[in-house]
Amino acid sequence: MNATLPAVAEELLKEIDRAFRETSRVPDDLLLALKFVFGASAVPALDLVDRRSVTRITSPSGRTVYQVVGSSGKLYTCYASCHFCTCPAFVFSVLRKDDNLVCKHLLAVYLSRAVGACQELTVPDRQLTRLLVPEMEWRG
Ligand SMILES: [Zn+2]
Repeated sequence: MNATLPAVAEELLKEIDRAFRETSRVPDDLLLALKFVFGASAVPALDLVDRRSVTRITSPSGRTVYQVVGSSGKLYTCYASCHFCTCPAFVFSVLRKDDNLVCKHLLAVYLSRAVGACQELTVPDRQLTRLLVPEMEWRG
């Protein structure tokens, strides 16, 4: 399992970040490169970015997670720092089969960061911990 993106993918995201800061748009050649590098995740991810589906959630202690509203309306949690998404596609097609670099949610997170399209939300530390460990039972 890769905990990071390959250098070519990192480089492309940096390139998109740079282009967007200079021109406020993503040039066509970079969009093409995006499809080439990320395959089937690219277009749905751009869709999620357009719909501003990505929320960056931070807490006072400095933790950050991302939540992405999927196309079905379901909410997925993405961890950009360790390159992980909670959706079934990530587990199946990225971790097990290794035939995709990312799922569309994680790619949407990276793209939203690059073009400044994240919605921002600050929550107390306790609430963020609940997002990180959703399967646990919490009292009080
Ligand atoms: Zn996902």
